[in-house]
Amino acid sequence: MPADPDRIRLLNPGPVTLSAGVRAAMLRPDLCHRQPEFADLMARVRRGLVEVYPAAAQEFAAVLLTGSGTAAVEAMAASLIQRETRPMVIRNGVYGERIAHILATHGHEPLVLGDDWLAPLPLEQIDAALAADKRIRQVLVVHHETTTGRLNDLNALADVCLAHGARMLVDTVSSFGGEAIDFDRWPLDAVSATANKCLHGVPGIAFVIARRRLLETPNPSCASVYLNLQNNYAAQEKTAPLFTPAVQALQALDAALDELKQLGGWAARHNHYATLARRLRSGLADLGLQPLLDDPAAYGSILTSVKLPDSLSFDLLFDRLYEQRFVIYPGQRSLFAKIFRIANMGDLTLADIDEFIPALAAVLDQTKSPSQS
Ligand SMILES: *Cc1c(COP(=O)(O)O)cnc(C)c1O
Repeated sequence: MPADPDRIRLLNPGPVTLSAGVRAAMLRPDLCHRQPEFADLMARVRRGLVEVYPAAAQEFAAVLLTGSGTAAVEAMAASLIQRETRPMVIRNGVYGERIAHILATHGHEPLVLGDDWLAPLPLEQIDAALAADKRIRQVLVVHHETTTGRLNDLNALADVCLAHGARMLVDTVSSFGGEAIDFDRWPLDAVSATANKCLHGVPGIAFVIARRRLLETPNPSCASVYLNLQNNYAAQEKTAPLFTPAVQALQALDAALDELKQLGGWAARHNHYATLARRLRSGLADLGLQPLLDDPAAYGSILTSVKLPDSLSFDLLFDRLYEQRFVIYPGQRSLFAKIFRIANMGDLTLADIDEFIPALAAVLDQTKSPSQS
């Protein structure tokens, strides 16, 4: 196929650059969610989601929600925590903070650990807190903290949780489909994610993958109608969604899951991301740019956070790169003026990275030269 001259390369962490196949799936014939064809589509996507990580297929089921990734995280927190217990949240970025905010909004009084966005999981503190307070049965944590690009060490967290019989509820919104999630060994109650990050679908559908046993047990302390996972699960098992779903987004996710399978599944996608990220990171280093996190091994393979040179404003950098059809992403809150972020999820190739680095080099050159302001 000839290269599309209008193709935009989204280097933000979702929504992502679409493949032609996923885009075309949104133009399938119109469909009502009460038709049998929709029931087939929904069943296929729900099965496809649990099969992304084959170890999940036995004991877990997927519940679809129409909303963004936050809807899935909120549904997980609202539906899978009992009122008499005390959830623990680990906060080393914006998304950990968001979980704490969600829990407080739903009337919980979570124990919130960690406040340094540049730090790894505070495992010793977590261990001590689980030993000290027996009401804490569940730990909520972000897998890939998109704020910085850190891949939190959930293998180590799993060891701590297993030692105390605690369960994990994980925001895998920006890692599902692109990083390892150990459904066999980690003591998972549930993970939450979205169609439009590492799965390469479009925004509109989010989902929770939870243990069937928990989905089959109504939770009287759930304080949401729309986000009640048990009710949504029961309806979806009968192939009749409770509410109007984002039909076209589901058609796109169906195609995206098919593509993921054809390309070799999550591990193949992970290897592809790792190849792109390595090329990107060595290109950035050659330009003299510094990563935000000191330890290069702290990064996953999905996103790179880069210190913004003093001579450069994010807005200028964004505008110049957009002229070359690249979209980059700013830092959040206190990191806004300090960093920019480059995600390599979506339908991207090494050729995109190899065009991006010289485009970035050209902007850096222009802003350094005294003749330009
Ligand atoms: C993108 C993201 C979310 C959800 O963001 P939405 O804007 O609601 O899709 C949640 N957690 C993480 C780690 C994310 O990267």
